[in-house]
Amino acid sequence: MLYPDSVVGTDSHTTMINGLGVAGWGVGGIEAEAVMLGQTISMVLPEVVGFKLTGDLTQGTTATDLVLTCVEMLRKRGVVGKFVEFYGPGVRNLSLADRATIANMAPEYGATMGYFPIDDRTMEYLRLTGRDEGHVQLIEKYLRQQGMFVTYDGSQAEPVYSGDIMNLDLGSVQPCLSGPKRPHDRVNFKDMKKDFTTCLTNKVGFKGFGIAEKDIAKTVKFQYEGKEYNFNHGTVVIGAITSCTNTSNPDVMLAAGLLAKNALERGLTTFPYIKKSLSPGSHVVTEYYKVAGVQDALDKLGFTTAGYGCMTCIGNSGEIPDAVQDAIIKNDMVAAAVLSGNRNFEGRVHPHTRANYLASPPLVVAYCLAGTVDIDFEKTPVGKDSKGKDVFLKEIWPTRDQVTKVTNGSIKPEMFTATYSNILKGSKMWQELDAPSGSLYSWDESSTYIHNPPFFKTTENELKPINNLKGAHCLLNMGDSITTDHISPAGKIAKNSPAARYLAERGIAEKDFNSYGSRRGNDEIMARGTFANTRMINKMVEKVGPTTKHIPSGKEMAIFDAAHEYQKAGLDTIILAGKEYGSGSSRDWAAKGPYLQGVKAVIAQSYERIHRSNLVGMGILPMQFKDGESAETHGLNGSEKFDIDMQGGKLKVGQDVVVKTSTGKTFTAVCRLDTDPEIAYFQNGGILHYVLRKLKNQA
Ligand code: SF4
Repeated sequence: MLYPDSVVGTDSHTTMINGLGVAGWGVGGIEAEAVMLGQTISMVLPEVVGFKLTGDLTQGTTATDLVLTCVEMLRKRGVVGKFVEFYGPGVRNLSLADRATIANMAPEYGATMGYFPIDDRTMEYLRLTGRDEGHVQLIEKYLRQQGMFVTYDGSQAEPVYSGDIMNLDLGSVQPCLSGPKRPHDRVNFKDMKKDFTTCLTNKVGFKGFGIAEKDIAKTVKFQYEGKEYNFNHGTVVIGAITSCTNTSNPDVMLAAGLLAKNALERGLTTFPYIKKSLSPGSHVVTEYYKVAGVQDALDKLGFTTAGYGCMTCIGNSGEIPDAVQDAIIKNDMVAAAVLSGNRNFEGRVHPHTRANYLASPPLVVAYCLAGTVDIDFEKTPVGKDSKGKDVFLKEIWPTRDQVTKVTNGSIKPEMFTATYSNILKGSKMWQELDAPSGSLYSWDESSTYIHNPPFFKTTENELKPINNLKGAHCLLNMGDSITTDHISPAGKIAKNSPAARYLAERGIAEKDFNSYGSRRGNDEIMARGTFANTRMINKMVEKVGPTTKHIPSGKEMAIFDAAHEYQKAGLDTIILAGKEYGSGSSRDWAAKGPYLQGVKAVIAQSYERIHRSNLVGMGILPMQFKDGESAETHGLNGSEKFDIDMQGGKLKVGQDVVVKTSTGKTFTAVCRLDTDPEIAYFQNGGILHYVLRKLKNQA
């Protein structure tokens, strides 16, 4: 039997599969765990927005420029919870890898998925990646008979969508970056210097660092490996060719390699103190880099392969040199990271890079050659050649045609078949790991990496009514675009944080603290790491960072400590937030962490799809301010106490819920339990309890 394929995965970037014509999207880890135990996925039928592509990309642009343009357009349009389908004659001009790049970044533009229907290019890709010819022909025959194969020959009717149509001429796409703090804040490459300079003095926000006018030209000196360097605002300290999005696209990867080669031939080099890395998503990249003869040039410029996988893209950039870090901290400098990653939210890439720009792999190389983002490459040379002559970026930038030629000559189907035939074996080190046998895991109480979480400790056979919230305190009052990186950061464990305290009490040295991402098997660490982002802006306190005001005592303290105080006193807490609460990674700890901190409800202006569903999955009630309303319009500052009528849990989909505050203000917010199964999960205290009770009753 043949039928169109589909997939759901626990990574938000599961959406990449849509580039191949397979419908798929990311779900929260909590929902996925329930699915593995037999639960079905429920969702509201999404609107489908059509995105018509015409024309072709110009010589100087890359798929990264295109995807950043799409991200900006679609975020502006608002496609959270919707499907987007790309169609039109421009699609045939995009390689499968280009399509996958656009499909991958669906979470950044907010859509559930960005779909590309199947055509000749898809079939070419299946052949290139070593799929069996008979299988490829079978797929094509089936899709043609079903009317699902796009031909671009005028014989097919213009598609009709339930949502509106957006248009983009590929020829209008400009080279660009996105930042300094959000993936949808696109900046034209030619405007970078102007934009960065404006951001420096803008008040602190998504496009501002709040640097005083008198300090914008500040230069500080620092020593590195016996040589003196200048540090200015915008100095690049991290350059990473990273992320599944870009490293799966041979064109942009080979463009970076060719640029490195051209730069080296002209005698250019990168600054040694910049932490540079190359972390492809697949070993195939290493293979085609060898054939194309570019790995050596990248190595010489410092882009040695650090490993395969998420790396800097997820925040595992590791340490930067002490001298660089000191220069940043002591002088309050705005240091920059340039990475070909998907996300650049504050504190994600590195705690000390306040400006984080997403860019194509060749632009990552270019900015590491220049050493600063405060540069207009049209007017300023990227460096000097061995004879002291200025070299401009355009002199060494490979054209699209040159890149395509090298791509076509470097990639062979055997590379894919050889790499993927070994994929399940893993490395020698992996194979030699000592793994326990048996169907039950034997927990080791002394492990600081894996710990038995308390999620089911209080699960009882019978359902109990959900308690109303009476006098709940506000743990945090936050603004717009609070990401899952703010809620549950994956990066470094800061030395004075509650998680660091916990580790130090168990004899772990600071150098071994490692990252939250690596310790996510330990609930004790993750509860302490919840809201531990060093760039957190909580309106209840003056300073930026992971602190809040514990209302009963009036003291400012770490958010975990305040939550702990409330829990000890038997007091419930809620969270106030602005728009797009929980955007970014699908990270389930961003719901598990608040649950462990005792948060019972969130009232936000809007939610990102996966995070809302994760909150429901943990039994936390997501509520939404009515349109045009917010914490500000209701005059809330977080010092109030809140009564919320949970109706014993017997809420209805989208019903109004009354919120009363201790200051006398009463308002209604919308219950964001979106489907009947979600009501059942909430009544059960979360999806995992629901499934557990169901399994027990079936036994
Ligand atoms: S963190 Fe980056 S590399 Fe990892 S899955 Fe997400 S986008 Fe891909």
